[in-house]
Amino acid sequence: MATAGKVIKCRAAVAWEPNAPLMMEEIEVAPPQEGEIRIKVVATGVCHTDLYHLFEGKDKRGFPTVLGHEGAGVVESVGPGVTDFKPGDKVIPLFISQCGECRFCKYPKTNLCDRSWTSNNYDIMSDPTTRFTCRGQPILQFMGTSTFSEYTVINQIAVAKIHDDAPLDRVCLLGCGIATGYGAAVNTAGVTPGSVCAVFGLGAVGLAAVMGCKNAGASRIFAVDINEQKFKKAKVFGATDFLNPKAYNKPISEVLAEMTNGGVDFSLECVGNTEVMRSALESCVKGWGVSVLVGWTDMKDFSARPIQLISGKTWKGSLFGGFKSKDSVPKLVRDYMSGKIKLDEFITHKMSLEQVNDAINLMKTGECIRSILNISK
Ligand code: NAD
Ligand code: ZN
Repeated sequence: MATAGKVIKCRAAVAWEPNAPLMMEEIEVAPPQEGEIRIKVVATGVCHTDLYHLFEGKDKRGFPTVLGHEGAGVVESVGPGVTDFKPGDKVIPLFISQCGECRFCKYPKTNLCDRSWTSNNYDIMSDPTTRFTCRGQPILQFMGTSTFSEYTVINQIAVAKIHDDAPLDRVCLLGCGIATGYGAAVNTAGVTPGSVCAVFGLGAVGLAAVMGCKNAGASRIFAVDINEQKFKKAKVFGATDFLNPKAYNKPISEVLAEMTNGGVDFSLECVGNTEVMRSALESCVKGWGVSVLVGWTDMKDFSARPIQLISGKTWKGSLFGGFKSKDSVPKLVRDYMSGKIKLDEFITHKMSLEQVNDAINLMKTGECIRSILNISK
């Protein structure tokens, strides 16, 4: 490639500060260093976690940054020591790495890699090192990925090589939302055949959780959202019952308890709201109910009455659906290509990188499930 070893100047949407629209800028992307890969981003989804950082978390130390962490692309060049990737390979950037060597990678029950930015940078939501500059300033790489850019540089421990025939403008969704919700149901909750489930929040993450419950054999799946427009889609993914908490004058946990003879076997919170987290736990049946936190928030404490857990319920959380990222994403791509999991049905809008602020607004107002930004050919 003519660009290998050189700085690439390209378009990116920069978030200069919290609570402000992203700005289209020309940024400089440095060549990959030891163990790193420079990727030409082809397509990316917009996930609520991008909005969380911009409008909710708003930690100033996490700016300026290039958001986007649900992308897919093609390898442009590789740094010294990279042998598993070559220019032209199709890849998905991973917001949690899998180095394969740390204590966490070696432990079978977790996907938290010690070399990931998630180790100790939840506040700024990125590793302090970056290969991006703009107007003479370093620009952070959000969640280690930064897919709202034509090019990005990522360590090889956070890149998955995928099937050559995979459609990048769809499998990009496996870089976050769909793997997250699906895995939260099949891995973290461990949904069992014949069980009764409730999913709170029917964005892409929640709908993917519904799909996971269905694929795991759940017999009844309650889809819970305050936006009833989402119910039609939830049915497509396998939901059987639809509840709007605002339509009742008692807590939704009581409504669910009455409808299920005491509560659901599994509940998944896919909103990112501590009150909904509590409500999802309270909706589980005593004795064995399992509730999983999937929605992202780190701004305040959450609470529940101790008897909720003393009575035998389990409260868990899930990052990236519990999937060990580098091993699992190529398999999920194959599962999509063989029809085992859906992706196309999540996509409601297709846009260009220049329209990123419109895509963000669509999510804010609840009008989309997933918008895909086509970044380059
Ligand atoms: P989204 O904005 O598309 O969907 C959120 C849904 O929740 C919407 O349909 C909204 O109407 C609904 N909702 C809002 N308040 C509600 C309430 N009180 N009760 C019921 N439903 C309510 O978001 P998304 O992209 O699907 O992401 C969902 C959550 O998952 C976000 O918090 C996101 O940050 C988080 N997330 C977590 C991980 C992880 O690894 N744990 C990964 C990706 C996303
Ligand atoms: Zn995400």
